[in-house]
Amino acid sequence: MSTRNTFLLFALLVALAIVGLRSLGGDTPKEFRRSRILMDTVVEITVTDAGGAPLPQVVDRAFDEIARIERLTSLFREGSDVARINAQRETKVAPETAAIVSLGLEVSRASGGAFDMTLGRLKMLWPMDGTQKAVPSQEAIRTALAGSGMDAIALRNGQVSRRFAETMVDLGGIAKGYAIDRAYETLKAAGVRQAAVNAGGDLRLLGGHGEKPWRIAIQHPRKPGGIVGSLALRDVAVVTSGDYERFFELDGVRYHHLFDPRTGWPARASQSATVVAPSAALADALATAAFVLGPQKGIALLEKTPDAEGLIIGADGNVYRTAGLETAWEQ
Ligand code: ADP
Ligand code: MG
Repeated sequence: MSTRNTFLLFALLVALAIVGLRSLGGDTPKEFRRSRILMDTVVEITVTDAGGAPLPQVVDRAFDEIARIERLTSLFREGSDVARINAQRETKVAPETAAIVSLGLEVSRASGGAFDMTLGRLKMLWPMDGTQKAVPSQEAIRTALAGSGMDAIALRNGQVSRRFAETMVDLGGIAKGYAIDRAYETLKAAGVRQAAVNAGGDLRLLGGHGEKPWRIAIQHPRKPGGIVGSLALRDVAVVTSGDYERFFELDGVRYHHLFDPRTGWPARASQSATVVAPSAALADALATAAFVLGPQKGIALLEKTPDAEGLIIGADGNVYRTAGLETAWEQ
């Protein structure tokens, strides 16, 4: 198997482990389920109440919508908005890309720059695709940070501008969440009443699961297949950023894909951060930010963000939660 396929198979297993779409006892609703590989992961759509919408057609349309957002936001795809942004100083982008950048900039400001959409050069330096076997030099990291920082991009009248020639935009910390939202909107507009859109463990829920809420298991960051607890939720998004998703180990040290923008090294304060929010785009950006900030500052960020809740598993292995998560949390 190629490295990429091995990785995707692993992503599928993680996705299945993370999301326990089970209801305890009672009637289990009939589920219609399809999956596709999109946005570098396995995306699974489960419908438990189609509300009369035609299946599988609406689910196919929801997948197509994710594929469309991927074409706009991919860092590597020729002609994508992100590739165009990175090729010139000022770029007119699609309304969807503008919406992503706008929300991302808000989270950048709220997190004091922990969420940073200008780490493209750093991402190139740390591909985390299974091929990387060595740690880059401090000099290479310093060079890759050139032109980065939350003030290095701006959005005006649907145009994204890069402040420095070196600035390289990467929407990897937020685009998947936005794509999940678009799939959700597609299902909802077609009349679907109950569904879950799950992209590698990042979810948006439409309604409940039959009479009950959906139960979302939170992956144990150090025990593959193990869980630390679960959340009973309906009608929200749940997104997790973890250091177990894309990483390699060298001399007993784990190097992963969530960077501290101040140092250019993988952030060290957390093992995972899970955010519950009204939209998956917001939850995605906040999860990345909260992971980088770590338990104290990360929970403070979630507490001050309206309608956002979450939990962070710290580097110490302890679980830190926002106060409002209490009712949904089951251990
Ligand atoms: P995943 O895509 O694995 O679910 P995340 O949403 O947490 O993970 O995003 C990780 C991706 O975000 C990285 O692969 C990279 O593209 C980008 N990224 C890494 N560090 C940061 C950061 N500090 N701020 C914003 N984006 C980041
Ligand atoms: Mg994210």
